[in-house]
Amino acid sequence: MKLTPNRFAWIFLTILLAAMGWGGYIAWKVLQHPADTILSLENEIKFGGMLSEQILQQHGEDAVIHDPYADSCMQALHQRLMGALQGSKYQYHLTLLKGNEPNAFAIPGGNVFVYSGLIKFCKSPEEVAAVLAHEMGHVEKRHTVNQIIKQAGVGAILSYLGDGGTSQQLSSELINGFFSREDEAEADDFALLLLEKANIKPVMLGQVFSRMKDEHGDMEGVMNLLSTHPELEQRSAKSSAYVTGANFQEIPIAMDWARLQQMLP
Ligand SMILES: [Zn+2]
Repeated sequence: MKLTPNRFAWIFLTILLAAMGWGGYIAWKVLQHPADTILSLENEIKFGGMLSEQILQQHGEDAVIHDPYADSCMQALHQRLMGALQGSKYQYHLTLLKGNEPNAFAIPGGNVFVYSGLIKFCKSPEEVAAVLAHEMGHVEKRHTVNQIIKQAGVGAILSYLGDGGTSQQLSSELINGFFSREDEAEADDFALLLLEKANIKPVMLGQVFSRMKDEHGDMEGVMNLLSTHPELEQRSAKSSAYVTGANFQEIPIAMDWARLQQMLP
């Protein structure tokens, strides 16, 4: 085959377009999940640790609930979910905070904060576990860190890491921000699978979402799961439609739920 100038031009053009397409795809991937290429896991975990300190400072020293019974309940939730979670790169830590908001949020690196308002809102430890499983999904899929990078830029994280968070604080809106629909769906899918593995009925997730919508749906400005987690109705339906495997067996998380609820401020 003779390479005429015409044919050469076509081959060149084809290669150029393929390279541009590939480059575009890579750029799109980086923009979608910037942390995967920009921030190492080690730095993410370090960043999360510093952010956790900041959150505790912002809430005040006496915001953390220190009580042996409450601690043992948090431990039971932690153990059940961690037992089912295999091969995670993160070490999860649950912190129970005083606060009326029926809310929980996760920050990069695996720290999860639970407000006492969520414990009071939930009807069982399994409902709390469902919310926690969803939040863990945001950590596992690196939504939390990607969200901060997308809004504040990786430079903000690197300088925060560099100076120990002393020169700037990241706002709570940024830390506890909104996720995209895709992120929410991904975190829900993660939660449903994890709950099944943890011997907790996956429908618990939808149950909490539905009740949250019914009871707090029209309350503006309330910092609840609804305000940061949109489209609860469809997501609740997905949870209800989830079919567990034939071997699934529900095992209640052992704790005195009424006692825990009553002792919280
Ligand atoms: Zn979410």
